[in-house]
Amino acid sequence: MKFSAELLLRRVAQLESMGKLPSFFFDFDGTLTNIARAPEDVKLKKVVRSILEELAERFAVGVISGRKMNQLKRLVGVKDIFYSGNHGVEIEGANFKFVEPRSARSSTYITSLAKDMERKLHRFGAHVNSKNYSLSVHYRIVDPRMLKGLMSEVERILKAPLRQGRIDVFHGKKVVEIKAPVDWDKGKAIQLIIEKKIKNGVPVFFGDDTTDEYGFKKVNSIGGMSVFVGKKGRQTAAKYRVSSPADLTGELAKFLFDLE
Ligand SMILES: [Mg+2]
Repeated sequence: MKFSAELLLRRVAQLESMGKLPSFFFDFDGTLTNIARAPEDVKLKKVVRSILEELAERFAVGVISGRKMNQLKRLVGVKDIFYSGNHGVEIEGANFKFVEPRSARSSTYITSLAKDMERKLHRFGAHVNSKNYSLSVHYRIVDPRMLKGLMSEVERILKAPLRQGRIDVFHGKKVVEIKAPVDWDKGKAIQLIIEKKIKNGVPVFFGDDTTDEYGFKKVNSIGGMSVFVGKKGRQTAAKYRVSSPADLTGELAKFLFDLE
């Protein structure tokens, strides 16, 4: 079903009439911004930052991303909101700080694995991003002719750690993500933030990629609203859809304008 400002206004009014606090959670890349050729090229548009600031004056707001905390905070640059990095593993906001314990213990190992992969994957033109609790191998900029070689090298490196149960691997948009093998995700991070800091909070969550599906499922299960950002035709647990970050920005601007 199509997401719109009108729909959001109705839902927010309904929740507030029940004494609930609608709370907004956003993925970052592909949701608040377009995906860039290289992750370091991404910038948040001023208008999007203003929308987040305006939303945060009235509602609890969180940005929850696969990026690491410090980088995410710098890129978003909005005060007094919740931030969650590493796909939910680290959380900060409203005097609350959390790192998922098993991931914290794996940090040294994950960091050394990132160094090793960086060294071995350099020649394929892949970009290895070391993020303390996870690492990502970005291959959007890799020459298509090098892709097969890159993937078999990735597989070769990860074979032993996977067998030893030291890592989990998952695939996003032109990215391979490697993290500690722990049952923790964006959905659980959203739930934890609400439990700890937003009494009566009901989440509205926007996302575009595979790790956001955990967020959609969780949000659906606790009476929230799940919104997929992207083109039609993808399999998703989200109940609503908006076709691009720009369209999402437009609907949110309209929502804020019409909000009394
Ligand atoms: Mg994303």
